[in-house]
Amino acid sequence: MAKKQFKAESKRLLDLMIHSIYTHKEIFLRELISNASDAIDKLYYKSLSSDNTGLSREDFEIFIKTDKETRTLSISDNGIGMTKDELESNLGTIARSGSLAFKNEQMGAAKPEAAKEDGSADKEVEDKEAEIAGGTANSDIDIIGQFGVGFYSAFMVADKVTVISRAFGEEQAWQWESEGADGYTISEGVKDSHGTEIILTIKSNADEEKYDEFLEEYRIRGLIKRYSDYIRYPIHMMVEKSRAKEKPADAPEDAETEYETYQELETLNSMVPLWKKSKSELSTEDYNNFYKEKFYDFKDPLKVIHTSVEGVVSYTALLYVPAQAPYNYYSKDYEKGLQLYSSGVMIMDKCADLLPDCFSFVRGLVDSQDLSLNISREMLQHDRQLKAIASRIEKKIQSELLSMQKNDREKYEEFYKAFGLQLKYGVYEGYGMKKELLKDLLMFHSSSEKKLTTLSEYVARMRPDQKNIYYACGETIERIDKLPQIELLKDKGYEILYLTDNVDEFALKMMMNYEEKEFKSASDEDLEIQQTEEEKEAAKKQAEDNKELLELMKEALSGKVTEVRLSTRLKSHPVCIASGSDLSLEMEKVLASMPNADDSIKADKILELNASHPILAALQKAYQEDKDKVKAYAQLLYNQALLIEGMAIDDPVEFSNAVCNLMV
Ligand code: ADP
Repeated sequence: MAKKQFKAESKRLLDLMIHSIYTHKEIFLRELISNASDAIDKLYYKSLSSDNTGLSREDFEIFIKTDKETRTLSISDNGIGMTKDELESNLGTIARSGSLAFKNEQMGAAKPEAAKEDGSADKEVEDKEAEIAGGTANSDIDIIGQFGVGFYSAFMVADKVTVISRAFGEEQAWQWESEGADGYTISEGVKDSHGTEIILTIKSNADEEKYDEFLEEYRIRGLIKRYSDYIRYPIHMMVEKSRAKEKPADAPEDAETEYETYQELETLNSMVPLWKKSKSELSTEDYNNFYKEKFYDFKDPLKVIHTSVEGVVSYTALLYVPAQAPYNYYSKDYEKGLQLYSSGVMIMDKCADLLPDCFSFVRGLVDSQDLSLNISREMLQHDRQLKAIASRIEKKIQSELLSMQKNDREKYEEFYKAFGLQLKYGVYEGYGMKKELLKDLLMFHSSSEKKLTTLSEYVARMRPDQKNIYYACGETIERIDKLPQIELLKDKGYEILYLTDNVDEFALKMMMNYEEKEFKSASDEDLEIQQTEEEKEAAKKQAEDNKELLELMKEALSGKVTEVRLSTRLKSHPVCIASGSDLSLEMEKVLASMPNADDSIKADKILELNASHPILAALQKAYQEDKDKVKAYAQLLYNQALLIEGMAIDDPVEFSNAVCNLMV
């Protein structure tokens, strides 16, 4: 029988398994039992929803057997089983390659796609293997101990793995066998009924590594209590017990008691799903372990929400806010959703309708007895009960996040770092449908506090005469801090929110105001800051005096700016660009950077000259002596202003020539 090779990725994962450090090896059992339980779920669900399988819940079990003589540990289930093709595709390739992609990201290495199946990238694979094998203990903990790697983890403790499986509804069973990295075989097998049996031939003891213990009943019992207690089907093991023999009636009083041994079927797990237990019974560790195992995260969650609601619709929800965004979170690949259970039976793995997009980062599950089991995906969308649950969950998440913001600011900031962007998209998306839900969760960097602040904190600090919430946009906080147009605002003691993400200004525009305070960009034409009568008069007069000069400059810049004017918002800088329309410069930049950008969308630009800068005197002088010079200066100043704003200038070569002309 020809030996088949594992796919390249699987090979690497196998290698990682085999070389993992000993203390993490025990999780193989949890992985195999979870697989067994999933396989039963599939068949049980089938028996409930459609075909008449003739099976009921009591029929299902997982069975564990140890045999010291043959050094084998076997885990069997009477679930759905696998066909020959399924054995091939499920166990010949790594199913959860997400974990490998994650590993690569951690190591800053190339994505596994780089490894071609035809072996052309073998060199790279080999290097990688060496790296993994010699990897630090820490990265091992991350990936194996916590992340979970499914079936392949069996090779951490076994020299040889045999899988005998018979798919439900088929007569023929198949046997898959492998001794590790050099490949596997598939042949006809023998099995009485549907399901899967996994037989591990446990490795011999090595110096530090006592594999023998995986053949001990007490050790297996402990592992199951620890990792698989909530599995909803009984995990049975035949155990040896001993009891005192009954003494014959005529035995003397002080005769020694004799013992006899017998075998008993023991149920190792309590089968109560974690979320059905009361909160007082559960420790943070219980919640966290459950999360990491079930949702394949290697970090503890930031927040656990465990809630039960009784009423028109009753349900229990166990929700987690992860500590960091999954590697694919801000990509199309990410699939949001909560697991949906109906009275303890999983009916959907990722029910998207339970979570609004703005909270798509939340992981967890909902269990409700009020949902019909036979419900299809399409019907589910319109299900009234489901909608009611979704809307309560949405509010619950919001209130829990708000309380985190209030009571544990540090943690909230960590959360915001990971998912703040999503909240801001959430405000913008759907025509602002969720803005009320989200507005208090937002935070922006404050010019005066020098850290993230909420809108309500900003409003509480507003000066009595202040009408607006001011903001300025730019790539980084440092850059915004240097923008000419915020000088005056800062000088007068107004707080400014610094917006550094592309979506920020769009989100604020969508909200329009917060507690009736309008959002106002520091580049806005009219900042509505208080001025004295004298200041107003002086400004008016200065504008009058320079009217012709400004007109000439505007003419020189026709098509580029809608106006050239003197400004009082500038202090040390000579020029800046203000926006005269609803579309700001920053938004123009964002729109221009999008694929298929429509470059006819432009913000109205106003060139503002600093009325108290020496440049004004120079311009006035040029106006008297040489009008062409004024035109050349106008171009220069305009381009300068664009550069400060972080925008592209139309013709860099021309700009450079103009600067040179000025020098020579
Ligand atoms: P995962 O469980 O994350 O999909 P695994 O490597 O553990 O990854 O398993 C790969 C696939 O093999 C599973 O998705 C499942 O289809 C199949 N499988 C594993 N164990 C069993 C089992 N006991 N019964 C039926 N199918 C199984």
